[in-house]
Amino acid sequence: MDKINSYFKPSVLELRPYSSARDEYDGTEGIFLDANENAFDFEYKRYPDPYQKNVKEHLGKWRQIDPKSIFLGNGSDEIIDLLIRSTSRQGEDRILTLDPSYGMYRVSAAINEIPLDLVQMNSDLTVNQDDVFNKMNDRHKLIFICSPNNPNGGIIDSNLIEKILQKSGGLVIVDEAYIDFSDTSSWITRLKEYKNLVVMQTFSKSLGAAGIRLGMAFMNPGLVAILNKIKPPYNISIPNQLAALDRMNKMEAVQEAIEEIKAQREFLRQALGKMEMVKEIFPSQANFLLVRFQKSELVFEQLKKRKIIVRDRSREKFCEGCLRITIGNSEQNQMLLKALEKINQNELITV
Ligand code: PMP
Repeated sequence: MDKINSYFKPSVLELRPYSSARDEYDGTEGIFLDANENAFDFEYKRYPDPYQKNVKEHLGKWRQIDPKSIFLGNGSDEIIDLLIRSTSRQGEDRILTLDPSYGMYRVSAAINEIPLDLVQMNSDLTVNQDDVFNKMNDRHKLIFICSPNNPNGGIIDSNLIEKILQKSGGLVIVDEAYIDFSDTSSWITRLKEYKNLVVMQTFSKSLGAAGIRLGMAFMNPGLVAILNKIKPPYNISIPNQLAALDRMNKMEAVQEAIEEIKAQREFLRQALGKMEMVKEIFPSQANFLLVRFQKSELVFEQLKKRKIIVRDRSREKFCEGCLRITIGNSEQNQMLLKALEKINQNELITV
């Protein structure tokens, strides 16, 4: 069997996909009486381009990649689900990921009734190669590696990812949602070497556009062609495509914000490091810090009472007492530090 086909379920390979009106005629001029749209005036009266050619062309220039290697989803979360649905058979196949890591791999696997095997990270949230290869087997159709990892922000060693790519008989997804905040380069540059590599990124983080709901996956064009068969035909709406194009026209501002977030991350790390109530800050190359507090429950509640909302991650493996704090702007970070200082001095809000 063709190597690319071997990653997918036979039912997906055999599928005769839904053929949308815009599949059958992709011209832009004419009197369109083919899609049961409503001809009366509204700017979004037409269905969107199912393959988002304009967006992909711009993205391709920005990330220096052939548009045929790009797949877009309604957020990365849609792509995670489509990858699972297209590759993994109930009762036969399995998925592998690290623990702790991004929660949607587990949720999507469970919704699709595919067992998820977890490689426990070390207590400092680094990964042991042997632990990965002791767990990995040929039933793993998908391996999700989040780097920088959520919830700690650490980079997964590139030698390890390379070995996983070489040994895996399935697809290896490197989730780079936070890559632009890091000092490491993207796995996009390695796509030609590895046909089983899928690199996921998103408009939600460095591009500052979580509301657009646009996830990107970069992969071999053969893989894109198969995912195109099973995606909902019009998964990215016209307003979303226009907003994405608009965002890509403001790359200078985007880059400035990334630099500022990185500087603020260092500022916060140093300031938090001096606080008595802070036990540990995990090294982070993302736009957040995972911080272990002495009394994390109290800190979480007291911050909330001051209308500062952080994420309680204390129930994740090895994250007892940990809060995940997104790096805000300078003013927000100052307010966070002031509030923590007050909590530290036992100035508690009781109502
Ligand atoms: N991957 C990781 C690692 C994330 O942390 C998140 C969001 N928290 C996502 C993907 C989801 O991205 P999107 O907004 O594109 O669905």
